[in-house]
Amino acid sequence: METLRVLELYSGIGGMHYALKKSGISGQVVAAIDINTTANQIYRHNFPDTPLWNKTIEGISLDEFNELRFDMILMSPPCQPFTRLGLQRDIADPRTKSFLYILNLLPRLSQLPRFILLENVKGFESSSARQCLVEKLLKCGYTFQEVMVSPTSVGIPNSRLRYFFMAKISTEAICSKDSQLSLLPAETESSQEPTLSIPLQPLTKEEEMEGHVHYKLETTNDVLRKRTQNSDLSVRQIQDFLEPEENVDIDRYLVPSKILLRYALILDIVKPICRRSICFTKGYGRYVEGTGSVLQSCLETETESVFKYLDQVSQEEKLQHLLRLKLRYFTPREVANIMGFPQSFSFPEQIPNKQRYRVLGNSLNVAVVATLLHQLIKC
Ligand code: SAH
Repeated sequence: METLRVLELYSGIGGMHYALKKSGISGQVVAAIDINTTANQIYRHNFPDTPLWNKTIEGISLDEFNELRFDMILMSPPCQPFTRLGLQRDIADPRTKSFLYILNLLPRLSQLPRFILLENVKGFESSSARQCLVEKLLKCGYTFQEVMVSPTSVGIPNSRLRYFFMAKISTEAICSKDSQLSLLPAETESSQEPTLSIPLQPLTKEEEMEGHVHYKLETTNDVLRKRTQNSDLSVRQIQDFLEPEENVDIDRYLVPSKILLRYALILDIVKPICRRSICFTKGYGRYVEGTGSVLQSCLETETESVFKYLDQVSQEEKLQHLLRLKLRYFTPREVANIMGFPQSFSFPEQIPNKQRYRVLGNSLNVAVVATLLHQLIKC
């Protein structure tokens, strides 16, 4: 196959570029475009030979796009207008303007790209932006497929359910047979992760009696779901993604006492043998609830034994109990590992951790996109 000329829009730290490399497709990124200076520094550090345009997409002319003669567009438009927790202003949100600009430009290109892959959050599937995308691409003669995929589908112990739109300029439909992913059609109204094929195991009587279930602010369903995830052998263990212990300056990553005392009950705690973790978002390391899991690094202490009596002891004792677990944040390198970034990926030294988590949280799972790209091109 000839080398595809790829346009990477909203390139961030280059998740799409890494996915293209990992997919084995012969492709060259002819331009990457983003306005975030921190993300651009990181992109340039890792891909010094790729032309990176620090410009707003809507400020780029049709002629400039035409000169690139691209065969493929990879893009992750800003997701804030579509997140379920946000205002969902959709196409009325100024952050959607550049995406609509691209859609309007598309039919006027001197050569239509053969392939398009778009990534976005759950919520995009029911947006007007998605409606515009579908109408425009059908008019231009594309066939397309939409899926929701989480990294657990490719054996990675992390939940990050995302919407993907894959289009091909051809009369042939994109085939999904032989796909290694268990794909959930995007239209399905389900908040469940698509991979839970193992039946839920009920708690034993003893566990029920012991009040095992509610030792943290967890419902029985939470406990069962986590247990099911941890016993899914098609997913790797967290320990495969950790840095060697001697490389981690543990004092730098321990969850501070103040946070332990206030938020211990809502932390999502995982151990190295677990096969699950929650989505790492851009607030990881700064905000607590729902921004990503923390790691229990002392394994001699039973998590349950610590949590069981917390409400019966003084603040000082409570802290002493919690400290025994040695709860720490995943390092940015470990988050990058979980998100499928290769070892060759690195951060320029001067980028502070807070920014590292932020750009990773905005990025995507490289292994998931690589598999989808492979599927889009190869069949
Ligand atoms: N896929 C990327 C992240 C995409 S997040 C990665 O792997 O890192 C969305 C990105 O779009 C952000 O980096 C943001 O800076 C960029 N962006 C938002 N609006 C833009 C615009 N109008 N023009 C160019 N880039 C924009």
